[in-house]
Amino acid sequence: MTTETFQDLGIIEPLTRSLDENNYTTPTPIQLSAIPPLLEKQDLLGIAQTGTGKTAAFSLPILQDLFTTECTMAPRSTRALILAPTRELAIQIAESCQIYGKYLSLSYATIYGGVNQKRQVKMMSKGVDILIATPGRLLDLMQQGHVDLGSVTHFVLDEADRMLDMGFIHDIKKIIAKIPSKRQTLLFSATMPGSISKLANSLLDNPKTVEVTPEVITVEKIDQSLYHVAKIDKRALLVTILENEDITKAIIFSRTKHGANRIVKELDRARISSAAIHGNKSQSARQKALTAFKNNEIRTLVATDIAARGIDVDNISHVINYDLPSEPESYVHRIGRTARAGTQGIAISFCDETEGKVLNAIQKIIKFEIAVSKTPELKKLAPIVTEPKDRNATGKQKNTNAPKNNKPQKSRRRNTTCR
Ligand code: AMP
Repeated sequence: MTTETFQDLGIIEPLTRSLDENNYTTPTPIQLSAIPPLLEKQDLLGIAQTGTGKTAAFSLPILQDLFTTECTMAPRSTRALILAPTRELAIQIAESCQIYGKYLSLSYATIYGGVNQKRQVKMMSKGVDILIATPGRLLDLMQQGHVDLGSVTHFVLDEADRMLDMGFIHDIKKIIAKIPSKRQTLLFSATMPGSISKLANSLLDNPKTVEVTPEVITVEKIDQSLYHVAKIDKRALLVTILENEDITKAIIFSRTKHGANRIVKELDRARISSAAIHGNKSQSARQKALTAFKNNEIRTLVATDIAARGIDVDNISHVINYDLPSEPESYVHRIGRTARAGTQGIAISFCDETEGKVLNAIQKIIKFEIAVSKTPELKKLAPIVTEPKDRNATGKQKNTNAPKNNKPQKSRRRNTTCR
């Protein structure tokens, strides 16, 4: 264990004061390796996933540099730009920066899609010290003339591999083209496929490379088990398992958005508090669910892989894979949620008759076989009553195209000019 403190690394007092207040007593490995070169204004390539303390690793030196460098702010400009793949991650990074920078009186703006742009435009009108943004909405506001990146001196690309997975590469290239080439650049990625190395080579100038905690080590810390269960029995198994009061705070992963909604309904009926977080939910609904989960107002959060990206919630006791992920790599990201900042976690997976192949692929990645638990006696649940929208009272499929007078239509020509 290290005995070095943040002060030893060169972090100034107003920052260490807020770190102390948040019980950050010892720097994490990535903070130890990244902070000194960043304070020296070096570029950085960080191979690290969420949960390692990377947000503080990159934001503390940036906050410090912005605080100690005099500058007059131009309207619509920013001095630091942090790009993140999801709204949740952008909000989380902004929250962290504001916590760490509590005594620095710097200004911030957060820009992401799915909400009205008015507030974001207003936040940018006078210019800010730090802008945290997702690529799509940022580009949109830049094109409308509401954001000017001509004053950026610090640029962070966070979770670069996910950005590429999510198809942001063209937006990112357009954004980078507007940032001055004289800047400090930081790129973080959990994995280093060829596409990321290429991007890193084109962006970074003689970077310091920092790599922490290979995923397999994190995975081994997590107590993993598996239930073989028929698809039809998954909901009963979930409700039965959640009778265990040791499951104090669980993320339940569903492969689909509709599946997530169905799970919440089922948990509701079993009087287990839950909320869903997925792409069909409004930003405010997602944020509300996340806050309730963080504050222990609900016991379970039901999420899809995309929506769960970057979610940083401490003390998650269990991750439950109601469905195995379609991408086997996602298994590692999912279960990593229960072992944040080095704590021990528990992951339980359900595997139905259709999921054998993906289970094999997962076990290949983690390099061991997940222990199989004996399926307990399942609770008897009431059948799900489905209410298809397009059925009338007689149960017949409604023909929404039928003419109102019930007379058969002879031909259905599309012609908007004639009556
Ligand atoms: P991150 O990888 O940045 O998402 O951080 C993961 C979690 O670790 C967050 O909940 C942070 O608040 C927490 N954390 C980061 N650095 C430290 C530290 N030095 N001491 C204690 N907690 C930390």
